[in-house]
Amino acid sequence: MNSFERSKTEMAQAREYLAGGVSSNFRLGVSPTPLVIESGSGPYLTDVDGNRLIDYYLGMGPMILGHNPRPVIDAAKAQLDRGILFAGQTEVEFEAARLVCELVPCAERVRFGSSGTEVIQAALRLSRAVTGRQTIIKFEGHYHGWLDNVLWSVAPAPDHCGPLNDPLKVPGTLGQDLSCGEHVGILGWNNLQLVEERLNGGDVAALIMEPAMCNTSAIAPRAGYLEGVRAACSKAGTLLIFDEVITGFRLSSGGAQKLFGVTPDLATFGKAIANGFPVAALAGRADLMDRFASGGVMHGGTYNGHPVNMAATAATLRELTRPEVYAGIEKRGQRLMAGIVEILERHSVPARVQGFPGIFHVAFGITKPIETFRDTFGIDRARYVKFTTALIERGARALERGAWFLSSEHDDAVIDRTLEIIESAAKVIA
Ligand code: PMP
Repeated sequence: MNSFERSKTEMAQAREYLAGGVSSNFRLGVSPTPLVIESGSGPYLTDVDGNRLIDYYLGMGPMILGHNPRPVIDAAKAQLDRGILFAGQTEVEFEAARLVCELVPCAERVRFGSSGTEVIQAALRLSRAVTGRQTIIKFEGHYHGWLDNVLWSVAPAPDHCGPLNDPLKVPGTLGQDLSCGEHVGILGWNNLQLVEERLNGGDVAALIMEPAMCNTSAIAPRAGYLEGVRAACSKAGTLLIFDEVITGFRLSSGGAQKLFGVTPDLATFGKAIANGFPVAALAGRADLMDRFASGGVMHGGTYNGHPVNMAATAATLRELTRPEVYAGIEKRGQRLMAGIVEILERHSVPARVQGFPGIFHVAFGITKPIETFRDTFGIDRARYVKFTTALIERGARALERGAWFLSSEHDDAVIDRTLEIIESAAKVIA
């Protein structure tokens, strides 16, 4: 059984100078302890206690090629040897932009940034500038970064949500500038009628959504939903923004928009676009995106298009043009999902496993399909944390919120070993 004593000790010491021992609140409150990591290799992490863990966090999604893909590391090192930052363009930046445009259906133009949070702000600003309207619609349970104007109704408590068809707008943090929510509207997701009715007013600049909802469970859009939303947005003169920070380069090489065959006006990317380097992108229609250059719409950033990150981006995207990357994730993700279902059923643990091979979600305490945010209210989170704790003690690291990310490095032997660990952990909680 793995022990995490050194992580615990180092975390306790670190809390004396690093707030909470972490640099992102999403890394707090992990059982048995937030880990201190020494290194990563393929599908594995090694922590400071010397535990070798099969990793299903994958950096919260980015590491689609595993922890140390040679081509990406080589490209970044080679670029680093040429210098660090120039405040000028590089050929690797142009190559990365061209690859995004080749892979992503909506991408006629692209701009790079350093985080998903940041490029979403660019998307919202551009939408307001182009339409001359102020209102942005977002959906309950969808996460678009940690800033004040989007941190609304991300994970509202059941007794704060308000009516299903007219949800309350619930702030996400203390200290939030509440005036930033003035032009934000909230809808329940996966219900076309609500979108059609809301857009009738003709006042909405943009509607932003995760095209498959991956911050609450892993939920596919209902049949016809994205198509209907697309049509309603076009009719109302509202821009459709897909936040593909998780789904981009993960559900397919062209993201959710390619998988579902629905093209938004703008889309945001991050995470898997650069396999762990801090890169994000806003992509979209040329007539919209070119307004950054010629339409008085401000977008800046010292680190945008950082040469080392761009070399990593280009190398990652070149790897992702190989169809076997997604074929492997598809096959092994399906196997793992089916294996988890079989094991939990055999141990009489009521559960719902759903999503996509590259990101799926396991929920305890409910068995019916999760189709929208409020369907998650019955989840037995405490029991699931016992399960992930038993997993990590046995050598597999999975997120306590139920999400599992797969990389191309999770081969059949890794899945076999994971299923053995799950079998053993299921006995603990059964
Ligand atoms: N959008 C979505 C859908 C996300 O999942 C995230 C991060 N989890 C973000 C935006 C914010 O990205 P970042 O953490 O890079 O700022």
